[in-house]
Amino acid sequence: MENVILLRYGEIHLKGQNRPYFERVLQSNIEKALEAYKDVRVIKAQGRYFIENVGDDPRIYDTISRIFGIISFSPALRVAKNMEDIQEAAELQLKDAIDAQGGLNGLSFKVESRRSDKTFPLTSMELSRTIGAHLLRKFPGIKVDVHNPMVTIHIEVREWTYMYHRIIPGAGGMPVGTNGKAVLLLSGGIDSPVAGWMISKRGVELTAVHFHSFPYTSDRSKEKVIDLCRILTGYCGPIRLYVVPFTRIQQELYQKCPDKMLTLLMRRFMMKIGEIIARREEAGVLITGESLGQVASQTLESLSVTDDAVSMPVLRPLIGMDKIEIIDMAKKIDTYETSILPYEDCCTIFVPKHPLTRPRLDKVREAEALVDGKELIEDAVANAEVIEVKE
Ligand code: ATP
Ligand code: MG
Repeated sequence: MENVILLRYGEIHLKGQNRPYFERVLQSNIEKALEAYKDVRVIKAQGRYFIENVGDDPRIYDTISRIFGIISFSPALRVAKNMEDIQEAAELQLKDAIDAQGGLNGLSFKVESRRSDKTFPLTSMELSRTIGAHLLRKFPGIKVDVHNPMVTIHIEVREWTYMYHRIIPGAGGMPVGTNGKAVLLLSGGIDSPVAGWMISKRGVELTAVHFHSFPYTSDRSKEKVIDLCRILTGYCGPIRLYVVPFTRIQQELYQKCPDKMLTLLMRRFMMKIGEIIARREEAGVLITGESLGQVASQTLESLSVTDDAVSMPVLRPLIGMDKIEIIDMAKKIDTYETSILPYEDCCTIFVPKHPLTRPRLDKVREAEALVDGKELIEDAVANAEVIEVKE
């Protein structure tokens, strides 16, 4: 009898000819995510993965629940295909379920069997009935409820017999790496980590860019961004983080351009630098955490002015979300507590008193021409610090 974990994957079923590719990427992502758990083996089976040599570190379930592409998973017992072993494992499963429910009181259950090995002597129905009757004898006080049971003991007869009672939701989405690469503009705030998570969930690999305004922003604020990246790597694998010095650009804009356009101009510079890094990284799109109307620089007019700075598409997955919804997601993905640490961000340093909410593109371009953008951008990119963030 062996403890294994059964992983189910989803949407990649839909991918027709690409399916073997998607499966290979997913398997490799699972293996990488579980690297820290020594001896673990990932085995591909029909429409499933099995994890063998699970060990006894309970954090493995947390780790698995973050892997994009997995719909759900179950800690399972694997036994040989004979009735004695199956009965014994069914007892263990039910006992585990009873402990999880906090006791046997009024517990209802059913057994649900599936048989992909048709040479097994009992049909699925017969197997469920036999095991159900066995459990009723062993655990006086429980009852069968086939319609609405508190516990379902699942039995799958394949090359081995697998039994489980828990089905834990996975992260869903698609395996990271199957949908290209994007550059995430990552501030230390609440929104951009959530934006990166949402796009990565659709199978996109992330490179992150953070603008740092030393000495106005401290090393702690940089550490905070590295920590946010590290949390994201739990979902999407290693992230290369570019920390780009932004102080000179901000000072130049502050000295030479109209105050009310400062945030917008900063945003345009961020986009342009993001685009250069994206090309270097062979990424085709940018991601930001902007949400419509949240602040002056996120009105429809402001977003158009920002988009004009680059020729790449800019993905804004939070565009239609309320702040409360974004906060809920940030909590769910575990970035919230880090995001609210009170270190200053570069955007809070040179803030215009009366930012434009309906900027005109021609005026913004005129203002931008007052600084030597090309030189400033080249200098910033050349001095970027590159940090490889792994879990
Ligand atoms: P966030 O919570 O992500 O900081 P926000 O609501 O505070 O978002 P802004 O500060 O206006 O919004 O920034 C809008 C977007 O611009 C951010 O979501 C992020 O993608 C990008 N951005 C802002 N500041 C930085 C920065 N210092 N480094 C990298 N990207 C940034
Ligand atoms: Mg911000």
